[in-house]
Order: sequence, then structure tokens, then C-alpha cells
Amino acid sequence: MTPRKRIKLKVRFGPAGRPLGFKGDLINVPSYLHEIGLNALEVQQVRRININKDRAMEIRKAAEENNVLLSLHAPYAINFSSEKEETIEASKQRLLKALEVAHWLGAYIVVFHPGYYGSRKPREALEIAINALKEVSEIARKKKLKPLIGPETMGKKSQLGSLDEIIEMVKEIPNSKPVLDLPHIHAREGGILNTRRDYEKIFEKLEEELGKKAFNPLHIHFTKIEYTEKGEKKHHAFGEGYGPKFIPLAEILVEQELEATIISESPILEQDALKMKKIVESILKGKSKKSLEKLE
Ligand SMILES: [Zn+2]
Repeated sequence: MTPRKRIKLKVRFGPAGRPLGFKGDLINVPSYLHEIGLNALEVQQVRRININKDRAMEIRKAAEENNVLLSLHAPYAINFSSEKEETIEASKQRLLKALEVAHWLGAYIVVFHPGYYGSRKPREALEIAINALKEVSEIARKKKLKPLIGPETMGKKSQLGSLDEIIEMVKEIPNSKPVLDLPHIHAREGGILNTRRDYEKIFEKLEEELGKKAFNPLHIHFTKIEYTEKGEKKHHAFGEGYGPKFIPLAEILVEQELEATIISESPILEQDALKMKKIVESILKGKSKKSLEKLE
């Protein structure tokens, strides 16, 4: 009897920051995640950067020992399209600092929010941000910092970061990768992610425009999200009746054997990361979509 071909799951799951069920030092988070069945962590440095080199090396060791892939979220106080020159300068320094800490951590990507349009026209805001980010990339290259520069798709219409803008940034910036916050795309565009075709269109566009720069792995943020005509309003847990749909995405990941890191930004962080993992694994085992719908 020939053994059935086993598809190896290339999708990692983890929370954005400290799991809610864990009380203790960040250094022990990777072993906690490993215990509960997760293998990714987006370290949050969103208020300020406060991990020094020694500590970063310890966290790195813990992550490696527990097979947890790290990424890092840079401070929110970044605006590469600001009207103030000093804000753009400070943003460059903050992103560079985040890249350095990520390098010590062995984190593969630094996620950040590119900026706000303010009074600028979108095109102008984009060009200004790209120029500043090219400089960051060049300095990072000279310093031999390994982590990728990861501009995130943003959920509010006042923010620089539509999918097309992120694609254009990544095209222009060496050593960068798009961060696909899919709920943000859903919220910003008025609820567009409901079917397989909706996700396929995004992946096809990424393939066409960026090729392998976007893949291996895809870096994805996921949560359920509430929105208004201005875009993102509030994150929700699975089962609260909000979109976007996860099952169609999971089906594509399994069928196309895509490599992806899925970071849960749900209010119940690791619990929904585990739910997403369960959905993907169930599809991998051939369970019917119907039986999974109650998990959405
Ligand atoms: Zn973010």
C-alpha cells in the first residue's frame, strides 16, 4: 500500500503581541505559544522601542528553541508623508531603530504604518514616503540589517496604504515586502473580501506586480473587523458576525500550498489564531466547508 501523500502545512499562526492567556516575561512567550500549538509571534513595539540587544538575543534564542517565527511591529508614531520635515526624519530614525532591534531578535520583517495623507494629494504623499523609505532601505543595507521593510495595508481612508499604494512602495523599495492586513483592505474598500475569487484577485495582483517579493511567506494580519464609510472602526473576534470571511482564504492557502504567516489581531488574539489554524487544518484533512462555517 502506498502511503497517502501528505501535504506539509506551510502556514504559521500566532498573535500580535503577548497572548492574553499568558502572564509573565516576554522571554517565556515562545514556549507558551509552542505549548498551545502556535508558531509565530509579532512582537509589539508600537508605543516605544524598549528591547535592548541582550534581551533581544535572549528572546531570539527562546523563539528558535520553540520554532516560533518572529516579526516586529514598529511604533505607531511614524508618518513618512507628513507635512513636517522633522516628522519624516523622526520616522526614518524610528523605523531604522526597529529594524536594528528586529535584526537582533532574528525577526524576518518589520511591520509599520506608512503615514497619513493630511492635506497632500495621495500621489504626492506616496512619492514622498517612497523617497524617505528608499533612504531607510539604503542605510539598513549599509548597516547589514537583515529584516525586511514591511509597509502595511491600512484600514482608514485617511491613511496612506491602499493595496495599490503598498504594491507601488514595495516595487520601489529594496529589501521590502507587503504586509497584507486583509481586514484593513476589507474595511477600507467597503467589505470586499467575501469569496474565494475576492482573495484570488489580490494574490493574482501580487504575483503579477511583485512576484516572489510578496510570497514565501505572505505576511498576513487577520481579524474580524467593523467599518464605516471612513474605513476601519473596530476589531472583533470570530463568531461575532463580522467579515472578512476566513474560510475562502484558508481554502486558497491549502490548495495552492502557499507559504504564509498569519498574525491574529483579534481582541482574543491567540484564541482566534488557534481557530484559524483549526480551520486550515480541517480543510487540509478534507473536512467539508459546511462543518467549518460555525467557526467563522
Ligand atoms: Zn499595524
